[in-house]
Parts: sequence; structure tokens; C-alpha cells
Amino acid sequence: MLKITDKAKCCGCGACENVCPQKCIHMQQDEEGFLYPKIDLSCCIDCNACVRVCPVLSSPKAVDQVPQAFAVAAKDEFLRLNSSSGGIFSLFAERMMEQGGMVFGAAFDDEFQVKHIGIHDRSDLGKLRGSKYVQSRTEQVFSEIKQLLLSGRKVLFSGTPCQVAGLKNFLGKEYEELITVDLICHGVPSPLVWQRYLAYRKKRDGRYPPRRISFRQKNFGWKRFSVSIQYDDTEYLEDLNHDKFMRAFLTNLCLRPSCHQCVFKTVDRVSDITIADFWGIERELPSFDDDKGTSLAIIHSVRGEKLFASIQSEVHEHQIEVGRAIAHNAAMISSAQMHKKRDAFMREISDEKDFGKVVDKYCHVGFLRRAYRKLKGVAKKILLPTKK
Ligand SMILES: Cc1cc2nc3c(=O)[nH]c(=O)nc-3n(C[C@H](O)[C@H](O)[C@H](O)COP(=O)(O)OP(=O)(O)OC[C@H]3O[C@@H](n4cnc5c(N)ncnc54)[C@H](O)[C@@H]3O)c2cc1C
Repeated sequence: MLKITDKAKCCGCGACENVCPQKCIHMQQDEEGFLYPKIDLSCCIDCNACVRVCPVLSSPKAVDQVPQAFAVAAKDEFLRLNSSSGGIFSLFAERMMEQGGMVFGAAFDDEFQVKHIGIHDRSDLGKLRGSKYVQSRTEQVFSEIKQLLLSGRKVLFSGTPCQVAGLKNFLGKEYEELITVDLICHGVPSPLVWQRYLAYRKKRDGRYPPRRISFRQKNFGWKRFSVSIQYDDTEYLEDLNHDKFMRAFLTNLCLRPSCHQCVFKTVDRVSDITIADFWGIERELPSFDDDKGTSLAIIHSVRGEKLFASIQSEVHEHQIEVGRAIAHNAAMISSAQMHKKRDAFMREISDEKDFGKVVDKYCHVGFLRRAYRKLKGVAKKILLPTKK
């Protein structure tokens, strides 16, 4: 049976919980807020299905096709401005729903925690749109997807590379009706740190609950994106260099341990399509860059090619060599380096100390700049643009 002796070897995808024939595995939060499988030994039959399905122990086979990369921006201005990068995810999702498919992705729940949900109606697409920089709970979604595929329904699943790998292992075979979209992923922050941040904001802003939260508001431009928390009568808005949660995230103080040894960092993916921000667009394709957001789409499979072809009339796009497309996006191939005081930070956050003070203690703005300079392949200019 699965034994988690090293937390860096569990990505928390939930494939083991979904596969257990005895339903004796439940994902439980640890003291840092990350989910790990807990096995009820009284009903475990030692079938090892949980071991076989774990994508960290055995990663599914990557698609055997030369990937193609594109810079993409949705022609629909509203869609683009309300998406993290160029709005490509929403276009894929719309196309799938038009064909009667279900789309699964990360959404906020009523408490503003993040979980995967399935939608089939265009009016719900706003729930999935936008990056939520918190690890998402997959719960029973993999089992739900299997049932849909067995009944012949089309499904689009989008998530982190480890979630896509977990789903693929859980399914155990290819389904023609399934399209998977993964991300270039910096790493996933702790849900507990996010919860503490929300409590801190509630106190500071004197309001709760918010009407809308966005991690990627583009008021100051796409490259200098900001966190926006909208209340009925006011809005909190702070850019990535000053918002306390983003500072903790981007300096690698609160990522899941497995993100620092991620086994899914490769150009050849198990997904059909990888989506990301096209960081470095101003150097690779300057005429394409208007600072409203450009997506990078890396197409890995024939199914991915077909879906991409179906949205081409709705986007501006430019094909580019894969090496150039990822030259400014180190997270495609390298894991985030752990902050050397990460564990101390996580302990202080768990102790319910003042969130703002703890972040300031471990990560001042100057430190953030230095940390970014160290990140291989990521230009300071892109991630820490100067104020306009
Ligand atoms: C935790 C995280 C780290 C990322 N790191 C990088 C990076 O280092 N470099 C980079 O170029 N891009 C990164 N991205 C991807 C980037 O933020 C955009 O999601 C991507 O550019 C697609 O943007 P879009 O405009 O097409 O669509 P959007 O509408 O912004 O995309 C939303 C999509 O992201 C998925 N998603 C949102 N939050 C989560 C979550 N918590 N877990 C799983 N899936 C989620 C949704 O299901 C949906 O499919 C990251 C995203 C996340 C969630």
C-alpha cells in the first residue's frame, strides 16, 4: 500500500483516493494545509491500486509527437482582459461545451478555497476562468470524468501537470473523447496560507465576503499584474510586487514540498495542450505585445491540434519555435527552488501570527527582486517590471 515517508514524493492529485476499491483512502490536510492520503488500514485489502496509480511513482507516457508552440491572443477584448494571459483556455472550453462536452477546471468554492468542478453551460465559464494560485482539491472529479467518458461524453480537463498525470493514470487508457490541458506551473501555494491571507485581508479591509477575487487583474498591465479583491462598495488592488500573498508565492515560501522536486518538468507532456503566459513576448515577437496578455499554447497531440484549429478564427496567433517560446519561462522545465527559510515561514503562518508581519519578516521587496534575478531563464524585467 501507499506509504508517504517523504512529502516531496506526493503531489496531492487525489488519484489514489479515487481509485481505491474499498474507499478507504481519504485526503487529509497536514499542518501546512496540503492534502495527503490517509489510509484506513482496517479496510485496506493491500491491492496496491493506489501505488500503481500514483503519477509521481510512475508517470504516464508522454505524447509521442513533436510539440508545436504558438503565441495566442483572443480577439475578444473582454475575454482577454478577464483571463490570466491571452484567454485561450476560455475558447477551448467554449468549443468543448458547444459540442456537448463537460469542462473541468479550478474554481473558488463558497469560502474562496479552490477546488475542481465540472461545467457544461457557458454561463458558468467565469468560475473556471483565471488562475487561482492555490492548490486545487480534485475530490471525486477523476471518478466523475471516468463515468462521463464511459457514457461517451466529451470531456476537457484542465489543471496542473501533476493533476493531468494523476487523471491519466487513474483512467488507465486513452479515451478519444478526452482532451487534457495542463499549465506551465510555477508550483502550488498552500490552501492554509491562502486562508490566513484572506483572514488578514478581512481584518485590514473591514469587509467580507468579497464579490470577486482575481489574482491576475490587468489594471496596471499584464506584465505588472495585480491581486484584486472586489467588495460591494470598494476594491483592494495591489500589484504582484507588493501584495503579501503574491510575494510569499513568488519567493517560494509556501509551495507544496513536491513542487520543489516536480517530476513533470519536461517539454514532452502527457497532456494534449500546455497553456501558459508567453513571458518574453516583447523580445521574441515585439509586434504581438500590447501588454493586454498573450498566451503560449504548446500543442502535443493530434487531438490538441484539432481543438486548436477549431478556435483559430477567434484568435490572433503566431507559430514560434518551442525553444524560443519557453526561453523566458523556466517553470516549463525546472522546479522552483525552495526558499531557505520556507519551513520557518510555514510554522509562523500556522501559528496564526499576523500575516503581513510574517511575510515582511521573510520577504522584503528587495529580497523579492534578488530572488527573481536568481531564477534561471527568467528575466527580471518580465517579472518585476518597473512602475509606470
Ligand atoms: C498554480 C499556477 C501556477 C502557474 N505558473 C505559471 C508559470 O510559472 N508560468 C506560466 O507561464 N504560467 C503559469 N500558470 C498559468 C497561467 O497563470 C495561466 O493560467 C495560463 O496562461 C492560461 O491563461 P488563460 O488566459 O488561457 O486562461 P485562464 O482563464 O486564466 O486559465 C484558467 C485555467 O487555469 C486553470 N487553473 C486555475 N487555477 C488553477 C489551480 N489552482 N490549479 C489547477 N488549475 C488551475 C483553470 O482550470 C483554467 O483551465 C500557472 C497557473 C497556476 C494555476
